[in-house]
Amino acid sequence: MNKNEQCIIRIEDMSLNGEGIGKYEGYTLFVKDAVVGDLAKVKVTRPKKNYGYARLEEILEASPWRVEPVCPHHRRCGGCQLQAMSYEKQLEWKWKKVKDNLERIGGLKDVPMKEIIGMEKPFRYRNKAQYPIGWKKDGKGQVAAGFYAGRTHVIIDSEDCFLGKPVNGQILQAVKAYMAKQRVEPYDEETGTGLVRHVLIREGFHTGEIMVCLVINGVRLPGEDALVAELRKISGVTGVVLNENRERTNVILGTGIRVLWGNGYITDRIGDVTFSISPLSFFQVNPVQTEKLYGKVLEYAVGERNPQGISDGQEEALPVIWDLYCGIGTISLFLARYAKRIFGVEIVPEAVADARRNAAANHIENVEFFVGKAEEVAPEKFVKEGIRADVVVVDPPRKGCDPALLDTMVKMSPKRIVYVSCDPATLARDVKFLTENGYAAEEVTPVDMFPMTVHVETVCLLSKLNVKQHIEVELT
Ligand code: SAH
Repeated sequence: MNKNEQCIIRIEDMSLNGEGIGKYEGYTLFVKDAVVGDLAKVKVTRPKKNYGYARLEEILEASPWRVEPVCPHHRRCGGCQLQAMSYEKQLEWKWKKVKDNLERIGGLKDVPMKEIIGMEKPFRYRNKAQYPIGWKKDGKGQVAAGFYAGRTHVIIDSEDCFLGKPVNGQILQAVKAYMAKQRVEPYDEETGTGLVRHVLIREGFHTGEIMVCLVINGVRLPGEDALVAELRKISGVTGVVLNENRERTNVILGTGIRVLWGNGYITDRIGDVTFSISPLSFFQVNPVQTEKLYGKVLEYAVGERNPQGISDGQEEALPVIWDLYCGIGTISLFLARYAKRIFGVEIVPEAVADARRNAAANHIENVEFFVGKAEEVAPEKFVKEGIRADVVVVDPPRKGCDPALLDTMVKMSPKRIVYVSCDPATLARDVKFLTENGYAAEEVTPVDMFPMTVHVETVCLLSKLNVKQHIEVELT
């Protein structure tokens, strides 16, 4: 097809990025803002050899799964790719995405897939917000705070996001008021000048504590006291901090935190464990779903659980658990009382400092945390020091586990592996390796940690085939 050509197509599926997919005379088109089930008039914008991209011109027949998006910006903002699709349909689509990946990439034909764990109220779930700050495009010298228009770095001024808390709007207003009064300039990506780059807000779900972090292209701000005074007026704010980032990069956070007022961290609870979280550490963004996710991890890691905890004399029978990619130790501490010992490994030193502090604050003594790459620390501790594992939990970033780590996991030969994944494709790739090396995929549960977006989290339980069974499998 050629550029600007128009056609009418039925949207039959959704792409990994949330575009509608339809075919015109066998030629596949990806259509942003179209929903599976729509009959749509579209205009080709970027034709390629075997497929192309098209713009939604008119919906001729709306999909039965189409809903009215709650956010006025949802088409311009790339954040909520699925907002125009009903929540039930989103869940069904995510479940199928996990299953398709496990089948196609993982080669798993009949792995038991549990129902996806969704949310009752799929909005306003995020405990963290990151707003870019810049000049408004109208050239009148006003500051914009909001989001990047999809696939660009143009900042659209918008103080409310329906995935975040309403208080974020108040905080942005306070920051803008301060910037106007003190004549503080926002950062300009093109020239690398100006000061304020991002406002990062974190809120404790159970505690309501709010930390505001300004990421700045410098060391200090003019009138820091005035900023603090504005922000302190907002109920819930317990800390104001600065993060220095002078790099010409898309990476939001730089290194180092300077506390201007209050606490340099927030506290929150997951289950009955209390966590303190510093701005540079990873922390799950959806607290309601995190409890459900960790509940699944617990169930898969230790099987039946005793709600009273473990009685005296049983410790010896408890498993030794490794928690790789452990962040601030959330999973480790959540599992601690069901384990004999827990070893956590994490690459970010600040997160490990949080993890250790959290263990101490909760009087949990059977955990130990190591700073380093999982693929380096695990072989070292296992091969050189002989620390074994009954259960290994991994929760890697999107790129999945390093091959060296997968190798070590197989050598460590734990009875169970619990794989927590935010990318079904790399999960499937790694599960394939594990199932070819002595493990069986027992059960998979997708969890919707990010409603309205295309992302899906998955927990997968693998168990070690007994040696005899393993040999039989290898012989056939
Ligand atoms: N399990 C934690 C964190 C999961 S996010 C939780 O549920 O909160 C993944 C974590 O892996 C991040 O904290 C990231 O800093 C860390 N990470 C990334 N690459 C790593 C590596 N090669 N080795 C160890 N940790 C790594």
